[in-house]
Amino acid sequence: MKKALFASFFCCALSMAPLTLMAQHKVVAHRGYWKAEGSAQNSLASLRKAAEVGCYGSEIDVYRTIDGVLVVNHDNKIDDVRIEDTTYPNLQYRRLANGEYLPTLIQYLQEGARYPQMKIVLEIKSHRDAAREQQVTDDIVKLVHDLGLQQQVEYIAFSRVVCARVHEVDPQAKIAYLNGDLSPQEVKNLGWTGIDYEKGVFQRNPSWSREAKELGLEVNVWTLRGEDDIKAHQTDPNIDLFTTDDPDVALRLTQPVEETPKDKKSKKKSK
Ligand code: MG
Repeated sequence: MKKALFASFFCCALSMAPLTLMAQHKVVAHRGYWKAEGSAQNSLASLRKAAEVGCYGSEIDVYRTIDGVLVVNHDNKIDDVRIEDTTYPNLQYRRLANGEYLPTLIQYLQEGARYPQMKIVLEIKSHRDAAREQQVTDDIVKLVHDLGLQQQVEYIAFSRVVCARVHEVDPQAKIAYLNGDLSPQEVKNLGWTGIDYEKGVFQRNPSWSREAKELGLEVNVWTLRGEDDIKAHQTDPNIDLFTTDDPDVALRLTQPVEETPKDKKSKKKSK
């Protein structure tokens, strides 16, 4: 009798417990969470804000000045000065939209190390020629290793030279290709770990996200903007990562949903 009572109580308790459905898509803040108050694209504040709201990763763009300083900026020029052709003293007092000085990569990584739960998705920007691209890649990978951040940094690049160099100097590193002109199989054959393609690429090649998953590649799509755009991509279970200008919206939409048996019943009824 006691046993029967316990069993029925246990079943009842179990049926009342909320079931947690895991979120499928991880959120990467494109150039950091720059829409937050007090933030700006690629600023240290944008990195902090991305971590504070719980992003999986914060994306940044990195160039190397001609005197060998790694700086964080999206465009290849600042006020008509091309970053890779100038020296750091010509840039160091430039201010971002939120008043911060232009960050160097070392400043950025040291700040990122305070948030070890968040990945730094580090875009190594295309430079003028292959020699410069190899140099900037070597310098970045060395700095990441010197700071012991290999597990926290994931690399992305448009340049095949850069991707190949990352793979050569750090075969354990994650490196995703951005340019959208290689099939998943071609990326796999090169030994790179993911595709990180503009959303139009997946529309033109609707089988690529599935093929990539089957090959064990990580799949990232950019740049999602606004609720409708994010929702439209949630229907593809083969996409792992959303790179977005609206990480707050993406996080809200991709949070694990708690579904109770009552929800399930009403869903069934509405079918
Ligand atoms: Mg970028």
